[in-house]
Amino acid sequence: MTAPGENMRINSDRLWDSLMDMAKIGPGVAGGNNRQTLTDEDGEGRHLFKRWCDEAGLTMGVDKMGTMFMTRRGTDPDALPVYVGSHLDTQPTGGKYDGVLGVLAGLEVVRSMNDLGIKTKHPIVVTNWANEEGARFAPAMLASGVFAGIHTLEHAYGRKDPDGLTYGDELKRIGWLGEEEVGARKMHAYFEYHIEQGPLLEAENKQIGVVTHCQGLWWLEFTLTGKEAHTGSTPMSHRVNAGLAMARIIEMVQTVAMDNQPGCVGGVGQVKFSPNSRNVLPGTVIFTVDIRSPDQTKLDGMRARIEKEAAEICSALGVGYSVEAVGHFDPVTFDPTLVASVRKAAEDLGYSHMNIISGAGHDACWAAKVAPATMIFCPCVDGLSHNEAEEISKDWAAAGADVLLRAVVETAGIVE
Ligand SMILES: [Zn+2]
Repeated sequence: MTAPGENMRINSDRLWDSLMDMAKIGPGVAGGNNRQTLTDEDGEGRHLFKRWCDEAGLTMGVDKMGTMFMTRRGTDPDALPVYVGSHLDTQPTGGKYDGVLGVLAGLEVVRSMNDLGIKTKHPIVVTNWANEEGARFAPAMLASGVFAGIHTLEHAYGRKDPDGLTYGDELKRIGWLGEEEVGARKMHAYFEYHIEQGPLLEAENKQIGVVTHCQGLWWLEFTLTGKEAHTGSTPMSHRVNAGLAMARIIEMVQTVAMDNQPGCVGGVGQVKFSPNSRNVLPGTVIFTVDIRSPDQTKLDGMRARIEKEAAEICSALGVGYSVEAVGHFDPVTFDPTLVASVRKAAEDLGYSHMNIISGAGHDACWAAKVAPATMIFCPCVDGLSHNEAEEISKDWAAAGADVLLRAVVETAGIVE
């Protein structure tokens, strides 16, 4: 085995053309895409991807969740494969690159290896995870979640879209129910290349994000109980004001997040006042706090402090208080060896890079539960994603794919 050569690059025109061709399937209303999971458009996108994979000499496996695994043989029949992938499904008003870039860059890695005559010890498997977005069937990252043992297959099959159609029935209907047991495959490594979906790389003028962590989160739902009363005739001294308690808690959440800089975030996104009338003090206030951090200790510390101080705020105002955790992910630390291989690939290629933490969830976060995994980010214009106006440049797409090629070939072991 030798180190990858200096001239090892992907074909940027071919990658870009493939992105544009895939974007013709399930066009949106404003230049993006609507290719939601298990729709006819999803089926059409899968067939196009399969045709390209056939042309590149890959063999297909499909599991019982509909995830596509396209294999390029290695020289050692006993070596576990290196997986490269992301998702082809989109939000209802999604962009052309979220997920799609990672799948088609994986394909481009294999196409370039074919062009360059590169053989590897480990096979390479380009992967299209089913239902990453979770827009039609909640939750997000459903197939990779079943793969990692987070959800059962039965639970996933029973998920319903807004029309009451189930995942299991729709998977059969579009003809992509596979035979493989979900999660039976073992991975030597997993790489996912994705657009950042945030503004940092562009602002710092960096081509490559070396993703070290995925942040964890807690969603806390607070229910505050005050006393419904006339806002005009109730003296200030007689009020049990749940709205005031909520306001103080929102301010406190901001303080807690700011005390945990850098890296932690916290805020309130949803509020329900009841009865929600302009001249009635609210009897009940329900609101959700979303806190996130890549550091488990900080994340759990923020939750404990928010709950303690919220109880004190409510007690001082005589407001009743309860809190329930309605969502949670543990933070993910990506595999240090793979992270280092990405960083070295960027350095060898002369691309500017910085460490970055993923603010969003990805299939890589579940893959990391069962295999060494990591991610590569490229910038996106104004950090915009989950929006039809999502945009990246051809050069940005190519730089990350070059890094992916180099890191994957190194991890899969180049054979002379
Ligand atoms: Zn995505």
